[in-house]
Amino acid sequence: MLSPSLPQVLQSSYHSPQLDVEVRLNTNESPLAPPDGFLRDVASRVVGSSLNRYPDRQARELRSRLGSLHGVGAEAVFVGNGSNEVLQAIFLAYGGPWRNVWIAAPTYGMYAQIAATTRTELLHGRRNRSGSVDAGLVDPDAELVVICDPNNPTGMVEPAELRSLPASRPNQFFVVDRAYHDFDLRQIPEWSGENVALVRTFSKALSLAGLRLGYVVADPAVIEVLYAIYLPYHLSALTQMVALTALDWYQELTAMVHMVTHERDLMGARLGSLGLAPYPSATNFILVDMGVNDAHTVWEQLVARSVLVRDASQWSGVGNALRVTIGTPEENTRFITTLEEVLG
Ligand code: PMP
Repeated sequence: MLSPSLPQVLQSSYHSPQLDVEVRLNTNESPLAPPDGFLRDVASRVVGSSLNRYPDRQARELRSRLGSLHGVGAEAVFVGNGSNEVLQAIFLAYGGPWRNVWIAAPTYGMYAQIAATTRTELLHGRRNRSGSVDAGLVDPDAELVVICDPNNPTGMVEPAELRSLPASRPNQFFVVDRAYHDFDLRQIPEWSGENVALVRTFSKALSLAGLRLGYVVADPAVIEVLYAIYLPYHLSALTQMVALTALDWYQELTAMVHMVTHERDLMGARLGSLGLAPYPSATNFILVDMGVNDAHTVWEQLVARSVLVRDASQWSGVGNALRVTIGTPEENTRFITTLEEVLG
């Protein structure tokens, strides 16, 4: 049989186990399902729609509604099936065998995986001692630069000064993954520039990971390239309908961000009082250094008690740590009391 032409690295590609447990705090989803009223609105939008026809290939209404959230027109927005897919679209268009991309570990594992599948050369960057990316550390020879702000898995925000880097590096293209943007309560100006693509998702703060909706906000010239290279009709009519309904319900869907940020701060304090070292977080999860306790063993013991978190110790550049998504108050308490029991 013909063997795959893909690089070896993909044999250990990104995935978090989907186990049947009582408390699932491993993939940074929202713990709350969207309200029934929202689902009823979705249903009434779907009833009577023309699924015999292909969807609007340009998803004009959705892009224009998303654009108005960002103060731009529809021509500055590309939509896809989750931010993973839109990241891949950017790499298909701007990466490839003759291009390189700079990332600084530890960061979101899909960047390295997509670099591998698109044969983009990966340049490994460094972070400073506190775990952030300083402007001076970004390789001036990189063509693509991917910054995850706030960063997964550390949960930390990048220094505000980094946002002025794209303006001084016009030959580099900055892809800024803002998946956790809504949990970052700093009020600082958004990343911007002709050489910046902002990547956003409905999977986290909008409680719609099951929908698979991600988008890019970038210069219209960039968006035109993404549509030119992408498969026709890639975003189904159903996805477009649900996403439009989600925009009608934006306030209600994002209301849980307050609960999550409050619970996150409580969780940080509780982890600290167990003698562990949680990283400061501006997201809906916390990375916690397990100190003298072996992270993988603790992870297994938590799973045995039906509590699933992410074993971050196998993540390049992390060390002996677990990553826990913030759940409902009850789930968070269950996690902490189970962890206490496991740590003895
Ligand atoms: N970027 C980051 C930093 C993430 O943590 C995740 C989800 N774990 C994604 C992108 C992917 O999100 P989506 O569900 O939109 O594909």
